[in-house]
Amino acid sequence: MSLQFDDIDYLERLRQLPNAQLHLHWDGCIPFEFLWDHYKDQGRKLYLPERHLNGEAVKGDREIKSLAELVQFRDGLLKQWNIGDVFDVSVMAMQTREELKTMAIAACEYLSSQNTFYAELRFAPWLHSQYYERGTSKLSLNEVIEASLKGFEEGERQFGVNVKPTICITRDLSPDDAKKVVEAALNFQYDGKRRGVVGIDLAGYEPSFPPELFSEAFSTTFGSNLKRTIHADEMVDKKQGVKNLYTSLFGLRADGIGHGIHLHELIDENPDLIQIMKILDIRLESNPISVLTTGFVKDAADLHLDKLVESGVKVTVNADDPAMWPNGDPAHSLYVVGKLYGDKFVETVLRNSIDSAWGLSEQGKLYHNELLTINLKSNGFIQ
Ligand SMILES: [Zn+2]
Repeated sequence: MSLQFDDIDYLERLRQLPNAQLHLHWDGCIPFEFLWDHYKDQGRKLYLPERHLNGEAVKGDREIKSLAELVQFRDGLLKQWNIGDVFDVSVMAMQTREELKTMAIAACEYLSSQNTFYAELRFAPWLHSQYYERGTSKLSLNEVIEASLKGFEEGERQFGVNVKPTICITRDLSPDDAKKVVEAALNFQYDGKRRGVVGIDLAGYEPSFPPELFSEAFSTTFGSNLKRTIHADEMVDKKQGVKNLYTSLFGLRADGIGHGIHLHELIDENPDLIQIMKILDIRLESNPISVLTTGFVKDAADLHLDKLVESGVKVTVNADDPAMWPNGDPAHSLYVVGKLYGDKFVETVLRNSIDSAWGLSEQGKLYHNELLTINLKSNGFIQ
């Protein structure tokens, strides 16, 4: 569907609201203008992939010669081009310590422009390490995480954005490789004082790789400081989606669910499951613009986020990959749900994000809730 954002005043008021982003991919939030300049500065050229999404070979000159062409390439994500090929534009610019630092600072700059004060940026160290066959990195998994943490520290110093990373396991990894990634994440787990990693995530192509393939890797975090979130019920039909939700919650002990597009159907069909999510304080990381753009959902109303909030689920609204499509900012996501459900709903999801942030202290949550109240008032969302 094509999304309209014609109420400019409303969009701008939403953009003023301080927000915490709990589901945001680092490689999906670096502005393409920044990436284009980075490649140019390094004297590196960018090329279209060898093949289209449908497998056809790309004919003629494949060099991307301008920012406009690069943006056009991006906008062909999942229409013309494989998602991994588009993401490689940022991933291939994150292959050395220096690049990781540069891109961490770039992400923080973008986030501060969106009034995002806290972000659980997630990334897959595998793609930035010596193991990624398409990349050039010489770094170990530990070195990638260490360099990233340093980069975010500098990003916070320059732009005031508190980043607490989450480490993704990409679904195409073998069980043993998945365990290597989790082991590296455990080496840097956040202890409430020092900088560190707050959780792990399972990301990538859901239909071929259900969560049970990763239960052993996930089980190594049980009893650690790391939280667990899983992209579940995003790319599959209801039957498989519900199965993946169950496996994630009970097998992999998820503390967060990314997407859960059929979760609303369980309010009536399995109230016990919803009750368990409430009792265990499991957050839903919804990403309305993302699932609309990728076409997994036809209409934001089909997510029934209002019913999920009413039933007590901790619904949070996130941008997922703001740089990967037009109108991807956090404010655009809030716009979509705000136009459907109103100001009170916007306030609720913003507070839910603060309250279910894994790297904010209780005092920090109080402070940011108070700051949010002030901003909701000054921007006319509450009296
Ligand atoms: Zn995601």
